[in-house]
Amino acid sequence: MKRLYWTQPDVCETDVEVVTVGENQVTTDPILFHPEEGGQPADQGFVGDAVVKEVRVVEGRIVLTLDRPLVDGRYIARLDRERRLHTATQHTAQHVLSGIAAAQFGLETVGVHIGLEGCTVDFDKKVEWDVAEELERRAIRVVMLDLPVETTFNEQEMPARGRRGEGVPPVLTESDEEKNKGRMPSPREVLRLVKIGEVDTSACCGAHVASTGRIGVIRVFDLETRKQGTRVSFLAGARALERSQVETAVLRELRKLAGCATADLPALFQKGQERVKELGKELERIWSLRLADLAKAAEVVPVGASSVSVYVGELPRELMSVLAGMMAEAANGAGVVVSEVNIAISSRTLDAGGLLKKIQNAVGGKGGGSPKSANGRLDRPVTADELGDILRRE
Ligand SMILES: [Zn+2]
Repeated sequence: MKRLYWTQPDVCETDVEVVTVGENQVTTDPILFHPEEGGQPADQGFVGDAVVKEVRVVEGRIVLTLDRPLVDGRYIARLDRERRLHTATQHTAQHVLSGIAAAQFGLETVGVHIGLEGCTVDFDKKVEWDVAEELERRAIRVVMLDLPVETTFNEQEMPARGRRGEGVPPVLTESDEEKNKGRMPSPREVLRLVKIGEVDTSACCGAHVASTGRIGVIRVFDLETRKQGTRVSFLAGARALERSQVETAVLRELRKLAGCATADLPALFQKGQERVKELGKELERIWSLRLADLAKAAEVVPVGASSVSVYVGELPRELMSVLAGMMAEAANGAGVVVSEVNIAISSRTLDAGGLLKKIQNAVGGKGGGSPKSANGRLDRPVTADELGDILRRE
């Protein structure tokens, strides 16, 4: 059956013959809607008044799932043009990236995902940013040359970039056909080659734009190291512009906050981080000088035959256990330190874990420990008086 998205990718509305094949499921002739296949999401739209909810390949046929049943006959089928434009643009951009990557950087494409928000192409080797940027520069040249995206069928002597991996359909290539000799090919395994000038020739069943000039722009936004190779996040066309605008706005905002040029932002940010670290250490040093006084001044609550020293107030988290230990020693019992909702307990006589549980039973929280020390968080802040009352309870 004739697939319009292969031969006439610009057709978004046409007259089709509808045949029912299941509950709310139909096939159409010609085929206007691209199915969910090859890492490319399915088209959406209407057949007559019926909404196309799903387009899938079922036993070699392209089956539409509609929101209502249709009587067999002729209908006008209409695509969601914006959606098709998006997926076809991204998908064609991926051909350009994969073709350049294979021919000029020895990178094989092992997976593809074309999403509505973002797209990725997985390469089999490590990709550094300098290579990714060169890939972008060479891709924009291909866009500017406005090369036609050509479709040919069953020309098996043509060398094609083989594709494998997640999201890539098992379209037969020459070598695959050798391996599969004697097996009946299903209709979807008709070899279709997509050729973009000298840039890329690959076996593909997706929907493309008619020429590379239609892609507009191709941008790489992120690189992620995978178990093997690299996942490259990219966007093309209007979405690439939108994403670039968002990132430019973030830079504008950062420049305003920092009062410096874009190029100076990384150094300034790094300097800021180092300063915060230094100040944290300095604060810890100053607090540690006060710990002995805090331990002495803490309120002591009798709990059974033991004494529990209690401190509720500001203190860096790193010093809470240290102070609790000093308080336990000074009281020759236990020390309980609460700062905001963090709690640290140290004990020489009572069970520290048991004390924490007792406090958590009253105010809620998480954490635990041993008879000698315990740490955790409370569900809400407490005062020293409230903590004393809780500890005194039987
Ligand atoms: Zn393709």
